[in-house]
This record gives sequence, C-alpha cells and structure tokens, in this order.
Amino acid sequence: MSLIEIPVSEIRTEAHYLLTDSRQLTFADKSLFFALRGEHHDGHRFLTDVYAQGGREFVVEKAALTPSLTAQLNAWTDATVWVVANSLRALQFVAAQHRQKFSIPVVGITGSNGKTIVKEWLAQFLANPDRVVASPKSYNSQIGVPLSVWNMNETHTVALFEAGLSRPHEMEHLQPIIAPTVGIFTNIGPAHDEGFRSRKQKITEKLRLFTKVKKLIYRKDFQEIDQEISLILRPVNPAMQLLAWSTQSHADIQVQWLSEDTRTLIQLSGSLGNHQFETSYRNEATLENLTHCLVFLLDHGLSPQIIQERLAKILPVSMRLQIKEGIHNCQVIDDTYNNDLQGLTIALNFLSQQENRGMRAVILSDVLQSGQPAEELYASIAALIHEKKMDILVGIGPEITRHRSLFTEVKSYFFSDTGHFLNQFSLPLLSNSVVLVKGARSFSFEKIVHRLQQKAHGTVLEINLDALTHNLNYYRNKVGANTRLMVMVKAFAYGSGSVEVARLLQFNRVDYLAVAYADEGVALRQSGIEVPIMVMNPSPSAFDVLWEYTLEPELFSKKILTEWIQYIHARSNAGHGPGVHLKIDTGMHRLGFPEAELPWLLQQLHEHPELRVNSVFSHLVGADEGEHTPFSRLQYERFIHSAHQIEQVLGYQTLKHILNSAGIVRFPEYRLDMVRIGIGLYGVEATRMEQRFLQTVGTLKTTISQIKHVKAGDTVGYGRRGQLFQEASIATLALGYADGYDRRFGNGVGLVSVNGVLCPTVGNICMDMTMIDVTHAPAEEGDEVIVFGREVPITELAARIKTIPYELLTGVSERVRRVFYKE
Ligand SMILES: *Cc1c(COP(=O)(O)O)cnc(C)c1O
Repeated sequence: MSLIEIPVSEIRTEAHYLLTDSRQLTFADKSLFFALRGEHHDGHRFLTDVYAQGGREFVVEKAALTPSLTAQLNAWTDATVWVVANSLRALQFVAAQHRQKFSIPVVGITGSNGKTIVKEWLAQFLANPDRVVASPKSYNSQIGVPLSVWNMNETHTVALFEAGLSRPHEMEHLQPIIAPTVGIFTNIGPAHDEGFRSRKQKITEKLRLFTKVKKLIYRKDFQEIDQEISLILRPVNPAMQLLAWSTQSHADIQVQWLSEDTRTLIQLSGSLGNHQFETSYRNEATLENLTHCLVFLLDHGLSPQIIQERLAKILPVSMRLQIKEGIHNCQVIDDTYNNDLQGLTIALNFLSQQENRGMRAVILSDVLQSGQPAEELYASIAALIHEKKMDILVGIGPEITRHRSLFTEVKSYFFSDTGHFLNQFSLPLLSNSVVLVKGARSFSFEKIVHRLQQKAHGTVLEINLDALTHNLNYYRNKVGANTRLMVMVKAFAYGSGSVEVARLLQFNRVDYLAVAYADEGVALRQSGIEVPIMVMNPSPSAFDVLWEYTLEPELFSKKILTEWIQYIHARSNAGHGPGVHLKIDTGMHRLGFPEAELPWLLQQLHEHPELRVNSVFSHLVGADEGEHTPFSRLQYERFIHSAHQIEQVLGYQTLKHILNSAGIVRFPEYRLDMVRIGIGLYGVEATRMEQRFLQTVGTLKTTISQIKHVKAGDTVGYGRRGQLFQEASIATLALGYADGYDRRFGNGVGLVSVNGVLCPTVGNICMDMTMIDVTHAPAEEGDEVIVFGREVPITELAARIKTIPYELLTGVSERVRRVFYKE
C-alpha cells in the first residue's frame, strides 16, 4: 500500500458509518474510521483495535506515521488507508460533500442557549408530513456536526442541525458542512466564554454560520445580535431575508406573551400575518424558544391549526440519560425521551460501559420517523442489539412486534403497547441486569421507569456526568499531554458515588485512581475497574487483598514499609505483586517519610530491589491559599531533592507528583509526571480563581412534605427556636441532619431554592426534616427544593457554616439516593 499524503478531496468511500471513537464501533466492516489527534487523544493508538474488530477503511495523518505504524499499516493488505494532513478536516470534507447531494431545507441553529430545545421541538412539530433528520442530542461540535450531517438520506424532507462553538474560527469549518438555507440564532448569553475576547466577537463568529442562508430568524431584542447582523452579516449576504421578532420594539414580527393563570397567549403580527397560539408554558426562556419555533413553522407553511394542535402536545425536552437503581437489583438507564437509530446506538454504547451487572437488557419501543423501510430498519436494530451483546430484548409496539422474527439472536418478549407490558411482563426476569429503557415519547415509557425504580425517600443527589467529563477535560487541558492524571475517588468519590464515577473516568482513560482504604479499591475492582489504583492508607491486614486485586499501596513510614517487605518475602513470587508509591512528608506532617528518615529509606530501597516503586510523591498543605505560596515552593524544593536521591538509588525513573486540584491552578510549573485531581473534578475550584471554568456536578434535591401558615408569635421546631415575628408560610422538607444537612444550617443560616426563590431555614434542623420559610416563594406541597447545586453554590453554603465544600460533599449520607445523568 502506498502511504502517500493525498488531498482530502480524493477520499472515496462507500462506508455507511463514519467513526471517530473506537469505543463506539458497531458495524466495523461498514465504517470509515478517522484517526483524530487532539491534545490528549490520539486516535492512531486505536487503529489496531479497530482493525482487529473488522474495520477496513481508515483515514490517518501523515505526521502520525511513525516507522512502526507505517510497517503495520503496510501489513494490512485488505484495508484501505487514506493519508491526509489533518483527519478532522477530512471528516468535515467528507460530510460537506455528502451535504451537497441534498436540496431540502436545512435549518442551522446556533446561539448560547436553547439550541437543542428549539431543534427537538421543531422536530416534534414537523414530523409528519415532513420527514426530519436532526443532530442527535447536542451533537454540535467540530466532530458532532459532520457525524450528524452524515445521517441525511434521500427520504428526508427537512434537516435540523445545531452548531456550537468553543473557540474562534470554528464556525468557518461548520458552515460548509451544514450549509443551512434557514438560520435560527436563539440568543446570546451573558457569559464571556474562554477563548473569546468579547461577547461581540462571539456573536460575529456565530454569524458565520449564516453567510449563505436565505432566511434568518432571530430575536431583535438582543441588540448586539441585531447590530452585528446589519454591520457584519448583511454586507456578505445581501439577499438574505430577515425574520426578526421582538416583544419590545418594532420588528418584522411583533410578539406579545400574555400570561394568565394557567396559560400563556402568544400573539404574532407583522410579516407572517396575525396569529394567536396558546400554551401552558410561562417561563420567559421557554417562550423565547417556542417563539423561534412558531416563526419558523409559519414561514415554513405549516397551518396555524396544526401548529396549535401540536403545541398543546409539545413536551419538555429532557435529553438526560439517567442511571437509577432499580428493583430486583437491576440498574435502569432511563432514556425515555425519544427513539431513533442514532440515539439507540449512543444509549447502547453507554450501556456497554456499565459492566457490573450480570445481564444486559433493553426495553425498546417502535422507532418512529426513521425514513427507512421498516424491514431494513428493524434488521439494523436487530444487528445492533446483537453486536452490543444484549441478553434480553423487550419490544413494545405494533411495528417492532411485527418484525419479531428478525430478533433471533437475543431472548426476546413483545407487547403491543406499554399497558400490556406493565400488566403481563414478569419483572423478576430482569433481575441483576442493566436495563436500558428507550422509547418514543408517545409510548409513555416513563411509566416503565417508574415501575422499575426503587422506591426511596424524596431526597436525591443528582450527579451530572457530562459536567464531570467537562471538569476532567478542563484539568487535562491545563496540564497538557505529557502529564498523567490521577483522580482521587476516595470517600465515595467525594460523596458522588465511586463506582459510577470511576467507570466514567476509566472510559475517559485517566491514568490512575486513588482511594483511602483497601476495601474502596476492592469495590472498584469488583465492578470492573481496571485502571491502576493507589491505596493511600493500607494496613497489614489488607495486604492480601491488595495483592489479589493489584491495588498499589502507598508506603509512608518505616513501619509500613518494613511490613510490606516482610509480606512480599513471605510470598513465593515476591517481585510480581503490585508496585508501590512512596510518600514524602515535606511539611504536611500527616503521612510520609520525614526528611530525617530519608537515609534509612534509601538504604532499604538499595537492599530491596524487588520493591517496585511506581511513584514518589508529596502533598502541598496550602495550595488553595495565596498566602502559603512561599511554603508551597519550599515543599516543592524539598520534594524534588528527596525524589532525585530516591531515583538515584533505584536506578530508574519513577512518576513524581505533588499537585492537587488547587496546585494545578496555582503552580502549573510543578505539574511533573502526574497530578492528583480531587475536588476540582467535582466542580469546586479551591483557589476560587478559575471557578467560572468548572461546571457544577452535584445537585442535592429534596421535596416539600407539608406547608402550613403560622401566626406571628408562634414558634417552629424543637426548643421553640424558630420564632416568628410575622405571619409566615412554613414548609417542611424531607431532609435532615441524618441526610447530611448540617445542624449548623438551622435558624436561617442555610438557604434553599424553591422554584427559583431562595428561602431560609426556620428553627433547628431535625434528624430527618427541616423547616423553611416559603412566604415569598411560589411553593406547593410536593414541589422540588434545591439544597445545593448551581442555584445554591456549595462553596457559599460551606462559608455560611465556616467549613469547606469538601465536608458538605462527603457528608451527604449514603441513604440519599444518587442519580447519574448525561445531557
Ligand atoms: C485528597 C487528596 C488529593 C486531592 O486534593 P484536592 O484538594 O481534592 O484536589 C491529592 N493528594 C492527596 C494525597 C490527597 O489525599
């Protein structure tokens, strides 16, 4: 094979699927794999994997061709390999070529918020008679957009694609791929994103998506958007028709939102005629998203009657894929929002990461609106389910039932509708499995999830897995490609749930995990975690399990090091156990060899070469606070001095590491071979200098059990502490100090958010309950209450009771159910 670089225009492929992530491989022989290189990922490392699984078409980068890779590629005589300068550009080019084959209306959606909602709602409105192709979930990145556009086929009559930006110059690559004929600019948020000089620059960049649109829909009340359209976009696209709408000033379309008790009237007048629609939504952001949809639909020619009929049925978009503990020891992956082939593939891939249960089951509705002939569609689904090694399939709906004979490779059950399933299916058949519940909205699969879900008390800690990934990548980008990542998942992953978090980290290929005690490490291994694990506080009684589960002990004192050496000597295979980590005490005075014991340590290392030292490390005592910077520097100097002596005696290099989350931000120059991320992953930036770049991971929620009106002069709670000077509405929450809501939050110190309004506690916190004042909040019994999360930042709460966020996070008791979700 000739591995000569070609221009991307010479790529010719018959592949059905474009693939950029080897973990998502499904139909290998029909896929074209693009080896992409990012700052931390190099797809070229996975070429062999893909080939071994049957992949035969590859796009690789010239600069990545090492002699050994070249030799390997040359040996694959049955494969086609295209060598290009930049694989991402090749992917984008192939998608842009594909786009050129179609002349249907293509809607390009961008903006700070609401892209996904507008897209999903338009899809709901348009489906039938239109056949819609849309970006799956929020696939709107440099990679997501080409993958979305690749799904277009001859049966579609409208396409809806969203485009997002994380830095300047990205849109010029997305424009030719989407090549929208109609644009929707949803809005512009106040956030000044990393990578952009100003909000104006962000708007200008986003507008590049619209340089060739025939029509552009936007809300004129965003004055900066309006200005930039006249100044920048108009001159390059003079023929474009504007559909500007406004609730405040004169525009092509005047809009009024009239909210009454239970409904809102949306009135439009102007260039699209006079119309009035009615919805039960009231909140401004939702009305804005709806208005974008209405303007598009009226212009598209959908009749106002049909729009109103569908508007009544429009459902809130929850693209969350949630993981819940279920009955019969099953784990439920709730993806009941929609059901299409692309979404099913994503969900099945996600399910494959959940490896700890015995069996894999999927409950699946008919797939609506695929645009494919039914026979072909269900054949692909059967193949997918087989490929992803599902053990059980429950098919619900007339169509999937009609094609039951295609599902020969899996144990399967079929029902004509959800009601029959709930009445007739024996749920214990799903015992000990991970169950994906995936159905089109009209099948009401939330009833199935409800049935499967474990009953628990009304308090949950929701963990946003996307935010975790975001935060991980943030630190990854900071430390660069040459520094490894160890993630601290001690203390139940800072309260977030160790197994699920570890699984996500393993999927994201972190280099090391660390736990405090051996049994935490064992639990991870038993759930299929294979990443190297360091145990910070091993005890001799745990040495057997350390050895058995390949958990690597931290050795920090004369005593523990001597005991470990004795232990390994007692085994016949002394040199074959786990490697160890040496902790140096440079000033923390917690665990670690003090400087004075260094000569002893060096002597031991010299005498016991069978001790394999994987790393040497120390811990900064005050990286989060600027005042301790001189001491941190001193600690670093001491550490390097000791580490070098150790390496000299060992005769080989070990990993050296000293930075925790705060240290990564404050001392990038000390990143060495590895860093240890803890609290930052969970969304708290301990130096507070870069908090804005992290996303909130955990949201503690509870519910209102009762509301009562209490007269002035009465008291609330134990000890008559909650004195009321005015008449008040008091709500009782299903949360107390036994759930981890600290007693110090009592008597107005703690605040919770009720329907967006902050409400203070009243009186003492009880064991299982807390009373709050909801006089100024819209509140009803059964309403959800946010105890901490984005609205109530955990750092501020911690400050209110003079503690640190670490204590609040790890204090959420284990009886509080953890729910994991992905957007
Ligand atoms: C917990 C811990 C960390 C992580 O610290 P954060 O402040 O949470 O980033 C790093 N190193 C050691 C030794 C730890 O015990």
